[in-house]
Amino acid sequence: MKDSGKARRNFDVAIVGAGFSGLYLIYRLRRLGFTVRAFETASDIGGTWYWNRYPGARCDVESMQYSYSFDEDLQQEWNWSERFATQPEILSYAQHVAQRFDLKRDVELDTTIESAVYDEAAPSWTLTTDKGEAVSARFCVMATGCLSAARDPEIKGAETFGGEVYRTGNWPHRPVDLAGKRVGVIGTGSSAIQAIPEIAKTAGHLLVFQRTPNFSVPAKNAALSPDYVASWKDDYPALRKRAREETRSGTIYEFATKSAHAATEEEREAEYQRRWDKGGANFMHAYNDLVVDEAANRTAAEFVHRKIREIVKDARTADLLSPKDYPIFTKRICVDTDYYATFNRPNVTLVDIRTDPIDAITPGGIRTAGGHYDLDVLIYATGFDAMTGALNRIDIRGRGGRDLRSKWAHGPRAYLGLMSAGFPNLFMVTGPGSPSVLSNVITSIEQHVEFITDCIAHMREQARAEIEPDAAAEDAWVAHVGEVAAGTLLTKAASWYMGANIPGKPRVFMPYVGGVDRYRRTCNEIVAKGYEGFVFA
Ligand code: FAD
Repeated sequence: MKDSGKARRNFDVAIVGAGFSGLYLIYRLRRLGFTVRAFETASDIGGTWYWNRYPGARCDVESMQYSYSFDEDLQQEWNWSERFATQPEILSYAQHVAQRFDLKRDVELDTTIESAVYDEAAPSWTLTTDKGEAVSARFCVMATGCLSAARDPEIKGAETFGGEVYRTGNWPHRPVDLAGKRVGVIGTGSSAIQAIPEIAKTAGHLLVFQRTPNFSVPAKNAALSPDYVASWKDDYPALRKRAREETRSGTIYEFATKSAHAATEEEREAEYQRRWDKGGANFMHAYNDLVVDEAANRTAAEFVHRKIREIVKDARTADLLSPKDYPIFTKRICVDTDYYATFNRPNVTLVDIRTDPIDAITPGGIRTAGGHYDLDVLIYATGFDAMTGALNRIDIRGRGGRDLRSKWAHGPRAYLGLMSAGFPNLFMVTGPGSPSVLSNVITSIEQHVEFITDCIAHMREQARAEIEPDAAAEDAWVAHVGEVAAGTLLTKAASWYMGANIPGKPRVFMPYVGGVDRYRRTCNEIVAKGYEGFVFA
């Protein structure tokens, strides 16, 4: 099975997407001797880090952990400069990996896959591109990303706006000059929380249109010290193993072993303050019951409310910025640099569109129920159709011509988040029902890619043509994912984990809360039992 280059239109494996998932798939499959071709809408590799170039974009998992672990030389030679890497630095890391392993020669850029149709007789998948070309492959792997289908809200008159329009999830590749301009940002999710402090530094006036406030903790970002870097690099294999096998999040934090109820009020205050000062998502691991016990959770939420009141001088603005209708940590915790303090600037105004809803976008700005805000620039920071969006944008047809969108009409159904019954030889990386967005996503990507590529190699050894999940195993897994989520507070927020940000999307908790450690053990046991729950032909 030798790669014969671009002219060939029939591959062992077709990959959709060339972010961290697609790149690692190419690396592994090529080493196993399979022919591969990846297709990527963007004009270059990098996925999330190619598209999300908005001011302030950076990782909220520490750089020493948000990187591939599969190659010791790679992790030793790469040098991160800050505790939380910026988007340009992560993108140059992706470029470095692609170049180091010569991965780009198997990527077709500027190419969107519009459909994937299974031919049961062959058996093979036929993928059709936006250029009308067809490619066939025995296996198809969707490495399309959990947060790659950016969305614009449906606001009346949006197309009439006469000024500049930008989207955080598809930011221009040229410099954007906001100096002195009246800028409106719609949305206050993770991207907005990173972008707002940066935009405020140059904008003439910044209006932030907020419907739902988010909890955010300070990053306390800083340059990495040589000693800290050495503490990781000297022990990388063992630390990575620990992150993979002994943590729920695929990231090593300072994990607590006791309940918030086991501490006095003073002790809790001191512990929250210590973690707040240290910075980052470590804050959410202060006690071991914060995502399962409402009263425990409230102690953390109230601490953050107090912090917001301390930082934000205007009492009404502080109140509006304080989330009160969902528990903290039930939406992905935001990690910021000076977000709340930004609202003390004279050139920044918070507009509460819950009480003063947007009526329409006009040629000159935004009209709310209460008035009109003149704008030169409009920025959508309105999130993603998470986890299923990129998959549903492709017309995927499996056995008997059945389409995945219909199968998933009431919520995604997949065994281990890896495959869906009725869609043989079609794998998903970090699909719904896997830990994915609840983890350090690179840790999850590596595990999925290794599972998938090992499985394809296993099928070659065993001379198997087809694999798909058994419907009963899939039902049991979907039920398990729901049960584990129901045992936490995570289902209590109208979050994108639940599909709540997309009108009409079924309210189903999509990622697996069981943890990457437990999930990995389950996958390993399934493989050890001869891929239990999968059916081969
Ligand atoms: P992506 O990087 O999303 O790549 C998927 C690629 O598939 C995209 O380039 C897309 O263009 C392409 N694609 C999709 N559909 C098609 C199609 N039909 N045809 C062709 N190409 C297609 N994770 C963390 O762990 N920590 C973080 O701090 C963190 N921060 C984030 C910040 C932002 C702003 C966003 C959006 C995500 C963040 N994530 C974070 C999640 C991040 O998506 C993952 O960490 C990781 O980069 C995902 O890699 P991927 O290759 O699976 O998907």
